[in-house]
Amino acid sequence: MAAVFMSGGSSAQDASNWATPVKPFKIGENVYYVGASDLAAYLFVSKAGLIVLDGGDAVTGRQVVANIRTLGFDPAQVKVLLNTHQHFDHAAGLAEIKRNAPGLKLFASAADGPIIAAGGRGDPFLKGERFYYEPVKPDVTLKDGQTVKLGGWALTAHVTGGHTKGCTTWTFPVTVAGKVRQGLVHCSSSVLSGYKLGKSETYPGITSDFEKSFATWKALPCEVFLGSHGQFFGMDAKRKALDAGKLDAFVDPAGCRAFYAGAEAAFRAEFKRQNP
Ligand SMILES: [Zn+2]
Repeated sequence: MAAVFMSGGSSAQDASNWATPVKPFKIGENVYYVGASDLAAYLFVSKAGLIVLDGGDAVTGRQVVANIRTLGFDPAQVKVLLNTHQHFDHAAGLAEIKRNAPGLKLFASAADGPIIAAGGRGDPFLKGERFYYEPVKPDVTLKDGQTVKLGGWALTAHVTGGHTKGCTTWTFPVTVAGKVRQGLVHCSSSVLSGYKLGKSETYPGITSDFEKSFATWKALPCEVFLGSHGQFFGMDAKRKALDAGKLDAFVDPAGCRAFYAGAEAAFRAEFKRQNP
């Protein structure tokens, strides 16, 4: 499992260690981290109800619900459920969140939605029971550039395919330490070991999808840099800084640019390796 989940360019993800419970914490005004040690999930709070972005894996899903309670909110008040992508480590927990708030609406991209509805079945690469999960049927199919609004929150979906065909990166304005900032939750740009680029593709169009996504990512505003995995944005170190009193610990536009530069270089190196 860990070998499959080598991330593009940076350290390997340790799958045995990625769903360790962590205490939820505040990132900005009315936005909290409610995920696990590496599998991320975010809570957006408003008077009109709650928004959750990503469910983690099945273990993380239960932590997300518990973390929402720990913060003093009612998981039944989740009205909108969003997702970065259909892989089990971000979508298997969605079912548990929906169990606690059966009336919520799940938004998913046109390409990833049907795979979430099929519990992971239909992914062109991750095949087998260990990758499958409890299905949830999306209520709304997102268009690229669509903004989801609730109680003052406005989160915009950017379909940035490659890692999965419908991989969705989210951007939103958020107030951090008294300043309005541009937040970004990165979907994933990881070229999993075994993905085929160039002549024979993991899915038709994966190479051009990655190309288009890197152009999008480099153009998106990114001040509060977040992602579907904590390791993408150096969560542990930033969390320590936050605990030490740095209220804008997650404001890191330079880190965001450096991450995308590294991820693009890793993608290009892998393309070259496969297409000498
Ligand atoms: Zn993934």
